[in-house]
Amino acid sequence: MVGPWKAPPAGAAIVVGGVPIAVKPTLLYLGVVLDSKWNFCAHFERVAPKLLRAASAFGRILPNLGGPAASRRRLYTGVVRSMALYGAPVWANALNRENIARLRQPQRTMAVRVIRGYRTISAEAACVLACSLPWDLDARVLASLYQWRGKVRDRGDVLAPQEIQMRRMELQQEAVDNWRLRLERPSAGVRTIEAIQPVLREWIERDFGVLTFRLTQVLSGHGCFGKYLHKQARREPTPECHECGAREDSAQHTLAECPVWGVEREEVIARVGQDLSLPAIVQAMLSGEEVWQTMLDYSEHVMAKKEAAEREREIQVEADPMRRRRTRRRRAAHDRLATLTSTSGWQTRGRLSPIGKRSSGWKACQVFRHALNGGFGQASAR
Ligand SMILES: [Zn+2]
Repeated sequence: MVGPWKAPPAGAAIVVGGVPIAVKPTLLYLGVVLDSKWNFCAHFERVAPKLLRAASAFGRILPNLGGPAASRRRLYTGVVRSMALYGAPVWANALNRENIARLRQPQRTMAVRVIRGYRTISAEAACVLACSLPWDLDARVLASLYQWRGKVRDRGDVLAPQEIQMRRMELQQEAVDNWRLRLERPSAGVRTIEAIQPVLREWIERDFGVLTFRLTQVLSGHGCFGKYLHKQARREPTPECHECGAREDSAQHTLAECPVWGVEREEVIARVGQDLSLPAIVQAMLSGEEVWQTMLDYSEHVMAKKEAAEREREIQVEADPMRRRRTRRRRAAHDRLATLTSTSGWQTRGRLSPIGKRSSGWKACQVFRHALNGGFGQASAR
């Protein structure tokens, strides 16, 4: 390895035990690429494509409707996270904005798969909904724990597993506090983040409540709403509500205002109260499983009807051309999955349909193999 301002002399090599080793600007050591500036950009340049490949491979076996349950989706996220955070104690304190962005991209892909959300959901909102601590903060937890254990070892003390676990939990709590501070100024997904940020700890630590495709639409605002279909998906000429004729059909309109869903909304009001703002709803959902289930039922019922109406509009002969942009293949896959889900339930408890279980298990083996082959198994062997 040479200094930061000079290129290595042409053909320069060091001979160790009779083996010539070329002088380069970077050095691969135990799977971590060291560079002369110690900013680890070369390391992340090498790792980022592998992470994206692994995340997109997992994405192919994690459909929004059907497919593996939330617990298995988190397990797959853990595989990509382990690849991303390999060697974190070495590089965690040298993270710059560029490298944080390289970590954020695959994390967003996996978080969107966990919450069964639209791909347009921002990284911040997806991570919040998926309870996925940003990997740059996660890396600092690992680094702090590693350094703490090293200092204790240097003093000649021996740590019990419970002490290590306690320290790990303390550091994770600090990381969550830092995350909450960071979320005070969200750059995207503002509605979702503003609702969850005040109760972030309760949201993360809850032991009930899974997110389904349709509940995520209501919470994120990315879904079958006139506003989203007009502004982001560009598949509607206006943001109006097709149900009641209101000028803008947003997630909040569907949730609290649209008169067409008045009967369905009565149960939500009975559980949540008259304040149907998203922060109030999120707080109520965290108060117990019954309220969560009520919100889930409302979302499934209402959004399924909106999706059916949207499909009807798409196939109409006189439909606006922009409504027909979904390709035949995508529409067929969507219809097939919608039918599968409607016959096998909403998977609110994380159960799998027999078809999803068999096919996703086999595919998961392939993806695991692919992820591990493309990960640090090869790097450390070299
Ligand atoms: Zn309406």
